[in-house]
Amino acid sequence: MELLKKKIKKLAKEKGYIILAHNYQSRDIQEIADYLGDSLQLARLATRIKDEKILFLGVDFMAETIKILNPNKKVIVPARSATCPMANSLTSELIIAAKKKYNVPFVIYVNSTAQSKMYADFACTSANAVEIVKKIDSDTVLFGPDKNLASYVAEKTGKKIIPVPGETGYCYVHNYITKEDVLELKKKYPKAKVISHPEVSKEIREISDYIGSTSQMEKFPKLDKGNKYIVVTEKDMVVKLRKIYPKKMFIQIDGAICNNMKKNNLKNILLALEKEQFEVEVPLEVSEKAKIPIKNMFKLMEV
Ligand code: SF4
Repeated sequence: MELLKKKIKKLAKEKGYIILAHNYQSRDIQEIADYLGDSLQLARLATRIKDEKILFLGVDFMAETIKILNPNKKVIVPARSATCPMANSLTSELIIAAKKKYNVPFVIYVNSTAQSKMYADFACTSANAVEIVKKIDSDTVLFGPDKNLASYVAEKTGKKIIPVPGETGYCYVHNYITKEDVLELKKKYPKAKVISHPEVSKEIREISDYIGSTSQMEKFPKLDKGNKYIVVTEKDMVVKLRKIYPKKMFIQIDGAICNNMKKNNLKNILLALEKEQFEVEVPLEVSEKAKIPIKNMFKLMEV
């Protein structure tokens, strides 16, 4: 395993690739990454780095976002089938129909396809969804694809949020974590604080001490006096947290595994570098339109 990691690092350097990996990648992958982060952090970082070639380790919609924001850079991924069922649940047809019916702004979570982003008005991340919706000049907004994030945003903003596609829009990794899973860990570690991703269900939000995106979860323990945390999100998030805060304890939810994220492995990463495959392509006409809600999000964040 260590040999394989060394080979990957060497080859990436020789071929001029920078390795960007999402926080939910396995420990081995986190160890070979040049940068680790959430999808938007990585996409923004990609615009600032000089490297022209990016090996991206995450799922397809994230690689697309990197390509949209960096059309002149070469982006490759090791597993073409690493996709996101939640992102795929929101089609452009659903957005067009909802906008026609309600005639209000559509806010799209970045966890969505480039094709869908083309028809949305504003993008948002799990870190800034509340801020973005608050700043939009409308008391009603359409929001998709995650119904749990939509209900969290409704609670925090007091606005009417209409989820699209509705009941079928959720991340299976977060949605299927049960209150009992968390309470069982809480019984074992009574002093541990529960820190949850906003893609979890309402009943988990209600028993959480803190709710935040993976980038916010990363900052929370720095200012918090506690030293034990039950981390309610994809299980490999704790790998990064343990590295940042070696003196604190982070407890994972064992069953919270994103199978798509785990389609990347050291073997197919090495192959991707050897063959410089699979290149991510987003047609220019899609990319130009999909960029609009992302740019609108950046503009609102500056207000
Ligand atoms: S963790 Fe959930 S939202 Fe993220 S890629 Fe996996 S299925 Fe999609």
